[in-house]
Amino acid sequence: MDCLFCKIANNEIPANIVYRDDLIMIFDDINPQAPHHKLIVPVNHISTLNDLHGEDDDLVGHMVQSGAMLAKELGIAEEGYRVVFNCNAGAGQTVFHIHAHLLGGRQMSWPPG
Ligand code: AMP
Ligand code: ZN
Repeated sequence: MDCLFCKIANNEIPANIVYRDDLIMIFDDINPQAPHHKLIVPVNHISTLNDLHGEDDDLVGHMVQSGAMLAKELGIAEEGYRVVFNCNAGAGQTVFHIHAHLLGGRQMSWPPG
């Protein structure tokens, strides 16, 4: 499948992977929007949040928990951080393989643009 994040999962395209297990990988965003900007990505392909099923509950929980753990390791947990899923083009999704953005290290504003 011609998918950027599947290619990263298959080691066909390099990325700075900071964590990997059977379900997920976490790597640096190539165009960081904050001092800390990681992408939490399932190893297996799912195009958008709209394609999730009940059987994916454990996977999504693991993505979010792993983001929270990494935020603690990065030392940004207490000051605060953001975990964002963009779903479809109207929300800014550009890579159609689901991923959570972990953003931190600066003051965030609300609402997001
Ligand atoms: P989204 O716009 O929510 O789909 O997020 C896609 C993210 O992937 C963007 O923040 C991009 O900067 C990032 N990105 C695109 N190509 C790469 C790459 N080769 N390695 C790491 N991050 C990437
Ligand atoms: Zn994919």
